[in-house]
Formats: sequence, C-alpha cells, structure tokens
Amino acid sequence: MTSNHTIRRKQRRNYRKKKRSKKLFKISLSLSLIIVILLLIFVVFPKVGLYAYMFDKGDYKYNDDSTSDIIKDLEELSPKTRELAIKFLEKCEENGLSVRITETYRTQKRQDMLYEQGRTTPGQVVTWTRNSKHTLRRAFDICEDNTDDPYGDLEFFRKCAEIGKEVGLTPGYYFSGAIDMPHYEFNAWWLP
Ligand SMILES: [Zn+2]
Repeated sequence: MTSNHTIRRKQRRNYRKKKRSKKLFKISLSLSLIIVILLLIFVVFPKVGLYAYMFDKGDYKYNDDSTSDIIKDLEELSPKTRELAIKFLEKCEENGLSVRITETYRTQKRQDMLYEQGRTTPGQVVTWTRNSKHTLRRAFDICEDNTDDPYGDLEFFRKCAEIGKEVGLTPGYYFSGAIDMPHYEFNAWWLP
C-alpha cells in the first residue's frame, strides 16, 4: 500500500517535471525565433539592401557599364538622395552660397579607374576605396560656383556642411579621419 503510494507520487512528480521542461523548451524556441526575426528585420535586410530596393528605387539612364565619365545629373541619384540634394541646394541659395554640383552617381567602372590612379596608373591617389556611396547613387560632390578658386574658401564649405547636416545629409566635412569637404551622402539605418 505504502510503496504503491510512493510510486504514484513519483510518477506525478515526473509528469510535472516533464511538463515544465516542455514549457521551457517552448519559451526558448519562441524567444530564439523572435531574435532571428529581429535580426532579419534590423540587420540582414538593411545590409543586403532590401529596403533600399523597396523604398528608394529609381529609374536611371546610366548603369555601371555605361561610362567611366563624370556624371553630374541629379536625376542619377536615388530618389531620397535627390530630394535632399534639392533641399540642400535651395537652402544654400537662400543663404547666398553659390553651389555647383561636380559629380553625382559614379559608375563602378569610374570608381575602379579612380582607385587605380596613383596605384597602378599615373597620378595622385584620389580615393581610398572601391566602395563608394557614389556608386550606390547616394552621394554627390560640390564646389563653389562663380569663383576662380572653387575649393579655396574653407568658410564656404563649413557653411554648406551646416546646411547639409540640417537637411539630413552626412557632409564629408565632418568625416573623422579623412575629411572630404566637397562630399555629401545620404545615410539611414535601413540602408546598406
Ligand atoms: Zn564624393
């Protein structure tokens, strides 16, 4: 009688133990599922450019194989970048800053050519990377217009950088390390 009773109590305890570990397994499974989904949404999808493809897609005349020439056309920037560039140009004009766009989209062909300059081809080194926001259509370069010395007025570039930041661009003026005064790019967490 007593031993029977003990066995039953043991069985009940075992049953409860099993139930608890099943519950724990379910919780940890759903937790890891949530973590994977969050990683996909906030890390993987932005990195592979899914959101850029979905929310910042344009129709362009040039692509990577088109040319190695300089392109200055605002239409060749991604729609969001173009929008900010136009806002930037308007604000600069309002503030009496005469800005000229010197380059917008850069084909990979041209970026590679620039990279080789000073390395395997003659000339000064002009870039430190094969990957540029220009090739992603999310950067443009400026200089001062209507002057003999378009890169000489540091105060001009400082004022422009302030305006660029205000409209939501990342001015190369503020780059830590290698300052790139004429350069402006559009960055967001959802972009590569
Ligand atoms: Zn640039």
